Amino acid sequence: MQPKLKIKVASLAREKEQFKIFLDTGFAKFIHQMYPELKGVKGKDLEAVVRRLHFERSNKVKARVKQVKQEWAQKGPKFMETISKMMGTEWFEREISCHVSVAEMNPRFLEYVEFMMFYDYPMEKTMEGIYHELTHFIYFKKFGELFPKVEKKRYNVPYPEWLLSEIIAPIMLADPRLKDFVKIKPTEYKAFVNIKVGNVKIMDYFSRMYTDYMRKGKTFDDFLKDAYKVIQKDYDRYFLRI
Ligand SMILES: [Zn+2]
Repeated sequence: MQPKLKIKVASLAREKEQFKIFLDTGFAKFIHQMYPELKGVKGKDLEAVVRRLHFERSNKVKARVKQVKQEWAQKGPKFMETISKMMGTEWFEREISCHVSVAEMNPRFLEYVEFMMFYDYPMEKTMEGIYHELTHFIYFKKFGELFPKVEKKRYNVPYPEWLLSEIIAPIMLADPRLKDFVKIKPTEYKAFVNIKVGNVKIMDYFSRMYTDYMRKGKTFDDFLKDAYKVIQKDYDRYFLRI
């Protein structure tokens, strides 16, 4: 069984909430680039601007939801099957929700199995974004099976477990087994370029390790256990606030 992916328009309430949260973070500058009218706007005024953006773009967002649904119907089930095999675990049954949003914030909510996706990317980037989030959901299921004692709060920023999940998702999406689904270079966090394991950039380090393990016919369990050991060895170094 695979969970259903429900693709829908993000509600106004959700948009308001997320704009408030993101405008308080380092992402504010990106939101301001897209919507300069949000600069310095707070409280009720902010809600009014978000409300306007939401309704002004509602036809485009709805059209996008329709396109993404069509794309998903063609590719989604096969992707879900492939990533589950690669990860060596079954999907959970709980429905997953993708809320299509006017803002390029793309947060995910692990505990609710939901995420938001910007409405105005090229379709290949939208799909890569969806695959990325779905990879996280099944990854954390696998991670919880292998390391049941690790607290769930560590799956989020700034914990090293979060960092590892964000490293592994693009590495897996670049796996040749997913070449029919992921048509662009998988998105990596720019903030990771300065982090190293020994002398090697962290993305390169784990990417080589993953390729090496897969080539030798080892399982994803083998890879994840050893990758997590690398992180745990120098745990304090890998806290990252973004
Ligand atoms: Zn991610």
